[in-house]
Amino acid sequence: MWKTARNSTVRMIRMIYFLIYMSAPIIDVEELNFYYDYKLPTETYALKDVNLQVNQGDYVVFFGPSGCGKTTLVYLIGGITTEKSGTGKIIVNNADVLQLSREELASFRQTGIGIIFQNFNLIPSLTVLDNVALPMTFVGVPQEKRREEARKILARLGMDIYAERYPMELSGGQQQRAGIARALANNPPIIIADEPLGNLDSENAEHVLKFLKELQEKDGRTVIMVTHEAWSVRDADKIIYMKDGGVVKVDTSGTVTNAEIIPLTAQLNRELYPDLSTDEIMVKSLSNLLLRGFSSDEVKRFEFFLDERLSGKIDAATFEAMLDRPYHQEGVGLWKQRALKISAITEDIIAERKKLIEVLHELEKEPEKSLTMEVSDLRTWALKGYNGHVDDRQRHRLDDLVSKRLRGGIPADDFRKALNLPRSKDGVGFSLRTAQHISDRLESVLVSGLPGDIKEAITNVTNV
Ligand code: ADP
Ligand code: MG
Repeated sequence: MWKTARNSTVRMIRMIYFLIYMSAPIIDVEELNFYYDYKLPTETYALKDVNLQVNQGDYVVFFGPSGCGKTTLVYLIGGITTEKSGTGKIIVNNADVLQLSREELASFRQTGIGIIFQNFNLIPSLTVLDNVALPMTFVGVPQEKRREEARKILARLGMDIYAERYPMELSGGQQQRAGIARALANNPPIIIADEPLGNLDSENAEHVLKFLKELQEKDGRTVIMVTHEAWSVRDADKIIYMKDGGVVKVDTSGTVTNAEIIPLTAQLNRELYPDLSTDEIMVKSLSNLLLRGFSSDEVKRFEFFLDERLSGKIDAATFEAMLDRPYHQEGVGLWKQRALKISAITEDIIAERKKLIEVLHELEKEPEKSLTMEVSDLRTWALKGYNGHVDDRQRHRLDDLVSKRLRGGIPADDFRKALNLPRSKDGVGFSLRTAQHISDRLESVLVSGLPGDIKEAITNVTNV
């Protein structure tokens, strides 16, 4: 009797501990303010009243445009920045990083958090193996053990064959992997990757994202990924949006799937750049998705030409030529085939948007105007890429829905749901995927909508 009671009490206590442990965030930032060059003429107020929590075992994205304070924030969390011009609290694993002594900080940096730096930060005079083993030196791991551990980590990243090379002898992608391996030394429970995709091509960028996700799912690490590229926020348990040194929004709606990236991108851009016009938002969203993995300079240049193209300052041929022209000759420097594809996608969207804007103008003048032809054209365009059969009844229902959507009589969400609803319930009876595809395409050309054809574009472009 006593025994049973005791067991159940122990279980309960364990459960309580478990709940406390699980529910306490592993990182808790409270009212953090930070200045560079405090009280000097060059003072920068880099972080403003930042509050955020990261839970144990989560995959969290810090998302925001360049200069919004992401690196400042993660360097403070990781104990890299030691300037004392910050106020507030940064609790990591129950310790306040801002209050740690110099010695405590040094140990925290080696074992508490592994940081993957944007510019790799490898030591040029050490081999890859020694770079990875270095953090273990600081915590007194004997040399043989260090090298053995470093080799294991490198092998996991497919980098063991480069162990004896120097950083200079590696490609950008390989250096990045060496940087990731070094962040894993000493098994830190938290991994922070500061813009790990910035310097990588799309294939390497995909690998890095997958690996970070694996560190969370298989190794149970808490992972923070810092990015300004909307396409890369997928799979996050939590997205923390930053702007001008502050947190503007926290999204915990859960894992973002591929299908959700498109609307999300436009939504993100709209939230981050509320002052931009729809066309400017379109430029940002398109470039985010088409130029995944490109450097910010290339993206800037792409956005410039896309903007010129959308506003009609350059024609299709010039746009395509500028995409293809080498970077050092003032072009974007894309691969020929990629330039052709991106230009084709862009032209298709521009043409359809143009038609649609005319239709919307007509509707403004005459709201009850019948649009049979226009709706049927738009429906045909939206169906492009769908190879299944559409019978008369479906077509009729579809046109009815498109017409309602055009007239603002039904929100985008309801439109998509109606496409997916079975015919018996007065829907079109498309699969969820087809419904999403068609609705994405339609929304892409609606004036308030977002760039279309993008999901297809991503697949096509990245498959080139
Ligand atoms: P992000 O990583 O989001 O691009 P940063 O954290 O690098 O943003 O920069 C935030 C702001 O702080 C910017 O205005 C930047 O110019 C400024 N800043 C960053 N590092 C320093 C520094 N070492 N000294 C002075 N100002 C800095
Ligand atoms: Mg940065």
